[in-house]
Amino acid sequence: MTHAQAADRFTANFDRTTWHDQALWFVRQKRDRMVYAVPEWEELRELASQIKNHALSNLDTYLEEFERNAQANGVKVHWAANAQEHNEIVLSILRENNARHLVKSKSMLTEECHLNPFLIKNGVEVIDTDLGERIIQLIDEPPSHIVMPAIHLKKEDVGDIFNKYLGTPAGASDPQFLTETARQHLRSHFVAADAALSGVNFAIAETGGFVVCTNEGNADLGVTLAPVHIACMGIEKIIPKLEHLGVFTRLLARSATGQYSTAYTSHFHKPKSGQQLHIVIVDNGRIEQLGRPDFRASLKCIRCGACMNTCPVYRRSGGHSYDYTVPGPIGSILSPNVDLKKHSTLPFASTLCGSCSDVCPVKIDIHVQLYKWRQIIGEQKAMPAAKRLGMKGLAKVLARPKLYARLGRAARRVLASMPYSLSHNGTLNPWAIARELPEPPKQSFREWYATNAK
Ligand code: SF4
Repeated sequence: MTHAQAADRFTANFDRTTWHDQALWFVRQKRDRMVYAVPEWEELRELASQIKNHALSNLDTYLEEFERNAQANGVKVHWAANAQEHNEIVLSILRENNARHLVKSKSMLTEECHLNPFLIKNGVEVIDTDLGERIIQLIDEPPSHIVMPAIHLKKEDVGDIFNKYLGTPAGASDPQFLTETARQHLRSHFVAADAALSGVNFAIAETGGFVVCTNEGNADLGVTLAPVHIACMGIEKIIPKLEHLGVFTRLLARSATGQYSTAYTSHFHKPKSGQQLHIVIVDNGRIEQLGRPDFRASLKCIRCGACMNTCPVYRRSGGHSYDYTVPGPIGSILSPNVDLKKHSTLPFASTLCGSCSDVCPVKIDIHVQLYKWRQIIGEQKAMPAAKRLGMKGLAKVLARPKLYARLGRAARRVLASMPYSLSHNGTLNPWAIARELPEPPKQSFREWYATNAK
C-alpha cells in the first residue's frame, strides 16, 4: 500500500484529521514558545550537530570506550548486528534469570526490532508501561508517533479501550480517571516483574553511563524494582563526554513537547546492589546508513518528534500511514535505507517546505535528504508505475517549450468550460476537494510578457 492509500484511511474521518492536525500544531506552538525564550538556541543546535557529527565520525572509538567504561562499572555489554540478534540476546538474558514477566518503558528500538511479539511467542509476558504505549498495546496497534504513541486516539477512544480491557464504566473518559486506572493496573505488573527493559537516550563514552528521559517515571519504577535491568540502544546514541549531555537535554524536551526538560532525566552508571544491568548495543542497518554520504546525517536524530509535529503531511495523514516504526519526515529518510521498494512512496510524502529541517534540534537537512531519496528511487525505478509514467510524460513536456505552450493553451480552454461537478469530482481530482481553482487566465505568462514587457 502506498503512503497516499494508507493516508486515505485516516483522512476518511474528517473530524479526526482536523483534530489530529490541531493537536500536533498545539505541540509545535509550545515548542516555539520555549525556543524563542532561549537566545542561544541556534548556537545550541549548531553545537549539538557538531558533537553528533564528530561522534558519528569516530563511532568505533567511542563505542569501544563506552564498552570499556561500562564493563569497569559492572555492566554487561552485548552487541547485536541486527534485530534478530537483539531479540535473542534479550531472550537469553531473561532465560538465564528465569524471568517471565517483563515491564518495558518506551523504546523505539525494540519496536523497530519487533521485540514484543518475539518475546510473547517465547512465553514471556511483556507489559509496556508508558501510558500511551500501554493503551495501544491493549488494542495491538503500533505507535503512531515516537514521543506521543497514542496521539491518534481521543480520550473517548481510550475510555472505550479501558472499558473493554480494564473494566472501567462505559462512557468514562475523564483523563484523570483514566490515568489513575492505568496507574493502578500497571502497579501490580511493576511489583510482579522479574526484569525491566528501558531504552537509552544518550550513552556517554567517557563514563560508560547512560541517560533515560521520560515524563511518567515508569522507566525508573520498573528498573528500580526489578532484579534485572536491560537497556537497549542503537549505536548512534553515543556522545563522547558528560559535558556534552547538557546540550542535548536542553534541546530534547523543548523540541519534543515544549517542556524545559523531561520530568525524569535518569542517569545509570552501574547495577545497584543485587541487581544485574545489561546494555544491548544494536546496529540493525545503521552502519549501512552511515556509509551513505547523503544520508549519514540522519543518524544524528535524537528522536524528539519535532519534525512530525510541524509536518503538514504527517499532521493530516497520521503516523500509521507511514507503515514504519519511525513515521514522519525522519522516518521517510530512514525507511528507504531498510527497504527501498516497500517504502518508496515515503520520501514523496512531503511538500519539501523545509519546516522539518528548520525545527530539527540537531540540524538534519531532512528535506534535502527526502529530495535525494526521490532521485535515487526514480533512478532505480522503485516508484509505483503510475507515478513513474506520469513523471516520464511530464519530463517530455517540460523539455519541449512549444509542446508545453500548446498543452497550456488547450488546458486553459478546457478548464474554462469544464463543469464544476467534473473539476471537483472527488474520485477524478481529490486535490480539488478542499480547494477552489482560480479563474483560468486568458493567456499564459509568456504571452502576457511578450505583450507587456515592451
Ligand atoms: S529528525 Fe530532528 S526533528 Fe525529527 S525526530 Fe530527529 S531530532 Fe527530532
